[in-house]
Amino acid sequence: MTIATRFPPSPTGDLHIGSVRTALYNYLFARQQGGRFVFRFEDTDRVRSTEQAVQNILAGMSWLGLDYDEGPHYQTARFTRYEEKIAELKQSGHAYKCYCTKQRLDALREEQIASQLTPKYDGHCRNGQEGKSGSFVMRLKTPVDGHVIVQDEIRGDVKIENSQLDDLIIARSDGTPTYHLTVVVDDIDMDISHVIRGDDHLNNTARQIHIIDALNAKMPTYAHIPMINGTDGKRLSKRHGAVSVLEYRDNGILPEALLNYLARLGWSHGDQEIFSMDEMCELFSLRAVNKSAAAFDPDKLLWVNQQYIQSMEIEQLASYAAPFFLAIGLDIEEHEKFVAVVDAQRTRVKDLIEMAEKSAAFFGRFSGHEEAAVKKHLRGVIAEPLQALRERLSELEDWTPNKLQAIVQQVAEERELKLGKIAQPLRVAVTGGSASPGIEVTLWLVGKEQCLERLDIALQLIRDRVSSA
Ligand code: GLU
Repeated sequence: MTIATRFPPSPTGDLHIGSVRTALYNYLFARQQGGRFVFRFEDTDRVRSTEQAVQNILAGMSWLGLDYDEGPHYQTARFTRYEEKIAELKQSGHAYKCYCTKQRLDALREEQIASQLTPKYDGHCRNGQEGKSGSFVMRLKTPVDGHVIVQDEIRGDVKIENSQLDDLIIARSDGTPTYHLTVVVDDIDMDISHVIRGDDHLNNTARQIHIIDALNAKMPTYAHIPMINGTDGKRLSKRHGAVSVLEYRDNGILPEALLNYLARLGWSHGDQEIFSMDEMCELFSLRAVNKSAAAFDPDKLLWVNQQYIQSMEIEQLASYAAPFFLAIGLDIEEHEKFVAVVDAQRTRVKDLIEMAEKSAAFFGRFSGHEEAAVKKHLRGVIAEPLQALRERLSELEDWTPNKLQAIVQQVAEERELKLGKIAQPLRVAVTGGSASPGIEVTLWLVGKEQCLERLDIALQLIRDRVSSA
């Protein structure tokens, strides 16, 4: 069998991280099986679909690198095909025209609710309303008795009684097809072998199986994946924080990290947490997807992001980081230096916004010495060693980490001070704060001119503090 999976979002909003996980599982499965991954927009709901959502979803897919073999298809371009299939169902007696008015359906519904019955269409027009005129919808003739078994790769066999399903509408009164019809026709036409989607679609699957049967088509294999909840157990929504994929991009999360985190959310392979895309493609298995809902944990995502920041190929990391440095106005023109900064910071940050912010001091940006750091580290006793450092640094021609390291060490040793006793005040003096990469790298990246300038300011601060004490 040739394998094909699909990702068919409705462009009614931003690309949601829950949808991305669904897309990812479809992607991994297709790649692993050497199959096709098909992308299509289910945009027949013309009121709720927007071009902005289409663009947002396309941008999200491209940022994540979830490339597809086919598509994007647009359902709005396939109306003629759906009309054909609706006619075919009518012809074969599997669909009928329903002329029931809204008033009748509303009254029916109220009656059923009052009698504590599940509201559903009563099949009023099922047996022959031919010759009638007026506005009508097209309904599928769903079997009244018996049941449907959804053979699910994740949940096993799920039995749904036909009595729970009503004669669903496949074409609206304006002739446009509904979701159930279009999704089935597309999956058949696009030779989809595996339908992997959220388990909120389980009931829809039972209905769609009846359409597939009526069209005499081959049944795909189904896999319904559990929902993603917030840490409070409620379905993940904006209340829990960012749900739109591009927000994660803008918050400094790496696409590889987001995909890795989402893959693990509901699927596991032993205790392994970090997977390359190749590993995920190789190891992913529908059978190993959890049956119960997973909880989205932003802290865990940050942890995964941190792992990727630490280990990603440096030029690649730098290209992801660049927009964040530019966004806060840092001049990263000098590429080698920029890459060196990224490399120096990669073990110290959880996201790229933090990386850029913490790197400002390396690009000539100095917003003064932090008060707490000054109080703690720029005391009178350090004035002399800092002055000595200033002299030697000013004489240094070859401004390299090795030479800088040697100078700091020398000044400390001459005064029988531990390296940290000198390095920390020096760090505060040249960056303004008490956290930065190793002292020699810090000095190197801040640059000679800026180091000397800031040391002078620090020395003046110390003198002022001493004289006012
Ligand atoms: N357009 C549907 C949705 O976004 C697709 C459901 C399906 O996978 O069949 O929920």
